[in-house]
Amino acid sequence: MLTTSELTRIARAVIAIRPDWQLNEVYTFLERRMKDRGFHELATAAAWVAADPLTKKIIRLEASGPWWNLLAQGELTRGAPDVPDHLRCFTCKRTESECDGLKTQTHVFRSVTEVERDHALALADPVALERRRALIAQARLNARQAGKKRTFTETA
Ligand SMILES: [Zn+2]
Repeated sequence: MLTTSELTRIARAVIAIRPDWQLNEVYTFLERRMKDRGFHELATAAAWVAADPLTKKIIRLEASGPWWNLLAQGELTRGAPDVPDHLRCFTCKRTESECDGLKTQTHVFRSVTEVERDHALALADPVALERRRALIAQARLNARQAGKKRTFTETA
């Protein structure tokens, strides 16, 4: 069974190919009709269908077609590639945009990589760590309040 995060990633890939489609519509269709598929299988089929100019709507995916026969036998059960640590929330394990999109915010996004780096820095220089953490938290808060995508990087 595909997770919300996996379905979201596939839906975003479809929207990248077909920007005129609605993300929530694609996601809802995938979630209702396709969540028992394998990640590799569904991602491949969905990209095929989205890229075909003859496709009018994502529901075409439900029909039987060449898009369901793209993988070799034995590949259908492979899971999704892991999200790398620098893009994954230390607290909730979601991607940054998914973490920010949570209805109830209990924490601010901090990547696994960032937290691990902080732990190392804390041993060496606790004062510098607090200063850096406060700067990043403020920048994230500002970005969220502005309602736009952050532009700063985590290399500070
Ligand atoms: Zn989170």
